[in-house]
Amino acid sequence: MTTNLKKLIRDYPDFPKKGIIFKDILPILQRPEDFSELIKKMSKNQMCLEAEAIISIDARGFIFGTALSFFTSKPMIVARKPGKLPGDLISKSYLLEYGENSLSIQKESLKKYNSYLIVDDLLATGGTVLCVAEIIKEQKKEVTGLSVVVELAGLNARKKLTFPVDSQLTL
Ligand code: AMP
Repeated sequence: MTTNLKKLIRDYPDFPKKGIIFKDILPILQRPEDFSELIKKMSKNQMCLEAEAIISIDARGFIFGTALSFFTSKPMIVARKPGKLPGDLISKSYLLEYGENSLSIQKESLKKYNSYLIVDDLLATGGTVLCVAEIIKEQKKEVTGLSVVVELAGLNARKKLTFPVDSQLTL
């Protein structure tokens, strides 16, 4: 990368809750050349090449998933927070580093493709990605891996995951 990726991640202590250091990835988007380089790097790994489609996680995962979909010409579907998606949904609840949430995927969209690369901005405890992976697997579809910009290694999420992880920055 032209700019060190670490310099483009801003820390916000005690957000959204006391004790959480929120890693803000948005400054990357203000550096289009660095953003473009990052997407190229994310597109290079085997799990991305192997996937038939990309599945992006609400909401910051959409930023990177959409760019990756555009760059690789792979179709993209989304996993969204409650109340956002119309139609028949498959939903699941999960625990977050700071709370509880649930994600939904449109049934119709999951029928179309057999293997998925999951894309998000950050891997913390792994609860979010596990939730998406479980929905995919329950539909007898394959997860080729997880691609994230940042991984918080101290939380040991990788131990819980049965698929490969590609992160551009480990903190
Ligand atoms: P987890 O399920 O714990 O792996 O959390 C990952 C999801 O929560 C991602 O969608 C992140 O956007 C968000 N997240 C969790 N922890 C943080 C953090 N410290 N800074 C920024 N985003 C976070």
